[in-house]
Amino acid sequence: MTKPAPKDWILGISPYVPGKSAADDGRPLVKLSANENPLGTGDAARAALAAATADLATYPDPGAARLREAIAAAHGLDPARVIYGTGSDELLHIAASAYAGPGDEILYVRYGFSVYDIAARRVGATPVVAPDADYATDVDALLAAVTEKTKVVFLANPNNPTGTMTSREEIARLHAGLRPDILFVLDQAYAEYLDGQEDDGGLELAKNASNVFVTRTFSKIYGLAAERIGWGYASVDVIDVLHRIRAPFNVTTAGQAAAVAAVQDTAWIEASRAHNRQWREWLAGEVASLSNHGLRAVPSKANFLLILFDGKLTAEAAMKGLWDEGFATRWLPGQGLPNGLRITIGTEDQVRKVAAKLRAMAEAA
Ligand SMILES: *Cc1c(COP(=O)(O)O)cnc(C)c1O
Repeated sequence: MTKPAPKDWILGISPYVPGKSAADDGRPLVKLSANENPLGTGDAARAALAAATADLATYPDPGAARLREAIAAAHGLDPARVIYGTGSDELLHIAASAYAGPGDEILYVRYGFSVYDIAARRVGATPVVAPDADYATDVDALLAAVTEKTKVVFLANPNNPTGTMTSREEIARLHAGLRPDILFVLDQAYAEYLDGQEDDGGLELAKNASNVFVTRTFSKIYGLAAERIGWGYASVDVIDVLHRIRAPFNVTTAGQAAAVAAVQDTAWIEASRAHNRQWREWLAGEVASLSNHGLRAVPSKANFLLILFDGKLTAEAAMKGLWDEGFATRWLPGQGLPNGLRITIGTEDQVRKVAAKLRAMAEAA
């Protein structure tokens, strides 16, 4: 041996590809590629964050007590069972690390969140991918893919990059079909974009089941992606296990303060949700009117649309054409979707410009 040898499963990992913020030639672009809140951050969160930077010499509260209490109060949860992470990304990774390793399987759907593959391989587990049903989650296919080696199931709902929603009944059916020794990680990164009646019941399930871990993030509707804050909810036992391996001081002082303000700022959340619903439906309508050119939007409940290009205009050409209008979107060949472009719902002006450019390109192709 002439140099340190990484574990062979680590070399099987393709690094996470972040959403672009520039064209290939370096031109800066408006980011409609990472599902951030186009309205920015609420004033309350911004003010709390600024105030919290007065003391930078002291470590943050290691137990994030105020944050856990604010989250618990907003969602009717037990604060002792709320865990927090450096983004929900940390929580997904520690869930995989705690419950799976070499010889085990971690299951998720095709066109699932790309972090699941990394989280599985990082711990030496085998990623297993269940087929989709027209881009949506197929509960029967997931259940059919469970083996005695399955230790963790990851499901994002709404899903990313498809935006598709699995109903409360289907989530309950999936959970009921999983052995109780399999950890069901329900990633609700976009849950705040749902109307109340669209809720998939995940937090209620996590209140009562011993094998459900629901994760949420402050990176999307709350407009705090820069601060890297996520949270999760599970049984006392699962939370105890996860605390053993989360990083100490994993959420900054300013991040904790901003998140407390953000979770209480219901006006901001509602305004962001209403904006998103209005312009997502409007853009979906525009794409539907281009169906004769081979464009189709997958039905979305999130803050983005996955548009499929099956006519003369390709997804790659559409992405490059949108660069010329100043917009970065997410082309997904690496996730098995060479005909797919995921576009975050931006401001009204941005969405209108994107739609006009798509129409011009589709009609000219
Ligand atoms: C954006 C996103 C997250 C959030 O990740 P953070 O680490 O909290 O920023 C988690 N899951 C899915 C499916 C996402 O799209």
